[in-house]
Amino acid sequence: MKEILVKAYAKINLSIDVLGKRPDDYHEVLMVMQQIDLWDQVRVGWAPGEANTGAGDSGGGAEAGDHGERIGISVSSNLSYLPVDSRNLAYKAAALMAEQYGGGKSGSIIVDMEKNIPVAAGLAGGSADCAAVLHALNRIWDLKLDLKKLMELGVSLGADVSFCLAGQAALNAELNLKEDPMAGTCAVASGIGEKLALVPPLNSWILLSKPAVSLSTAQVYGGLNLQEITERPNTEELIAGLREGNLYKISKNMTNVLESYSLKEYPVIVYTKNKIVQEGKAYKALMSGSGPTVFGLYPCRKRGSAAYERLKTLNKETFLVKTL
Ligand code: ATP
Repeated sequence: MKEILVKAYAKINLSIDVLGKRPDDYHEVLMVMQQIDLWDQVRVGWAPGEANTGAGDSGGGAEAGDHGERIGISVSSNLSYLPVDSRNLAYKAAALMAEQYGGGKSGSIIVDMEKNIPVAAGLAGGSADCAAVLHALNRIWDLKLDLKKLMELGVSLGADVSFCLAGQAALNAELNLKEDPMAGTCAVASGIGEKLALVPPLNSWILLSKPAVSLSTAQVYGGLNLQEITERPNTEELIAGLREGNLYKISKNMTNVLESYSLKEYPVIVYTKNKIVQEGKAYKALMSGSGPTVFGLYPCRKRGSAAYERLKTLNKETFLVKTL
């Protein structure tokens, strides 16, 4: 069996602006995304031969397009509540690769995820796993797809998949895409989040804290009233701050317009945000993605650690990590 391990990193949003609603009901966004040192370990194996179409806790089988061959897909993770069938983004990625590139192949794709990234948290955990499977099968099947092509495939599975692909290419040397012009750990994303332009990464300690509430991306975008947004990020200035490595300028221009819905509806997110600012004197605290995770920016580990100890008693899912 051929096997590859991919570190599927989480992201935070240094800013999110929503520019409008498209005719297809997706929102047009402009945001800055940053990879952080918190990852799911995704093991992807390929066992050529007879397809295992999914007994036990595996996710089931997938037809390899209309080629007639069979490719089985089996997905597992350390989280019992996470579906491992076609609802899982890692499964969807395997099925897409089987459909597109499985012609002439017969065997089983086996995916096992050790999840460390909180689920439904605004940290793109599912998209990261999805990107990891696309990368892994590209390597295992020696398809030699570049990042542009992988992103074209990934966008059908989620808007954040493109950025996850870019970050993993920069950070997992064995994927052989480190030199790809699209590989990088910080980017301005436009369109629905899939159009990327790389910018220099932020260098900072990050405290992440996820309040124990569930809110889905669809709910947050659905509840957003574009007319009610009073504060928008200055994306140009934020990019300038990143280019200059100026933490003050960066934090001053970080805004997430999705907070206008989430903070109003969930006081616990406001509470967490205030705690992060008060406890460790964070340069800035902001909700990531559609939440509920809030993160704070610290210039050094010491200040972040003090806040980590306090926030950990408030929210179990609290982490202190570096940006990448
Ligand atoms: P984003 O920041 O991209 O909006 P998120 O961090 O808010 O993503 P995810 O952790 O990706 O959210 O999970 C969102 C939903 O996707 C969950 O309800 C979960 O059941 C589903 N999901 C499917 N596959 C996965 C996966 N591999 N890991 C985590 N969640 C997954």
